[in-house]
Amino acid sequence: MPLFPLLPLFHCLNREHFGGKLCLEGKPMVTLKWSDGRLRRTAGFYRRIRQDFLTDSSEIVLSRPLLENLPKSAVESTLCHEMIHAWIDLILRVHEGHGPNFYSRMKAINASQNRFKVSVRHSYPLPISLPKWWAVCIKCGQRFPYSRKVRGVACRQCCNEFHGGKWHESCLLTYELALKEA
Ligand SMILES: [Zn+2]
Ligand SMILES: [Zn+2]
Repeated sequence: MPLFPLLPLFHCLNREHFGGKLCLEGKPMVTLKWSDGRLRRTAGFYRRIRQDFLTDSSEIVLSRPLLENLPKSAVESTLCHEMIHAWIDLILRVHEGHGPNFYSRMKAINASQNRFKVSVRHSYPLPISLPKWWAVCIKCGQRFPYSRKVRGVACRQCCNEFHGGKWHESCLLTYELALKEA
């Protein structure tokens, strides 16, 4: 599934929930990016990047591995969450994590629409259930999820069917990497 382009989503959320304030002359005040394959611990983050004494820039990074297979509402909810952080930092100019400003804005956004729901925690169960490896039986084509490669595992069904229930080399499973790494 292709990744949702973030810019139109950003503009839409900015208009609907931030009074257009997160843009300067029509351009987002933050850089928007999809992460590479390694960002798995969080669905997204906002951060300020100090470039030199005078210039600061900031970015919102969304996790490709966590969000790419989820519906658009998960992307919107995560992007909106990070936009609240950006709004607190860039517009309110307050140092705050998930504090009172965050909660009041989150509640207002959740109350105003039903398309998505912003939460404080990005809790997506997906990365835990996603296997790292697929063990594939070449004979019958069955695929089994594995978190790590295990040597010498054969397809039980094929061993039963072709070798009287005894382990046989010809039924060994081969491993395919399931997660795309960047
Ligand atoms: Zn947050
Ligand atoms: Zn098999």
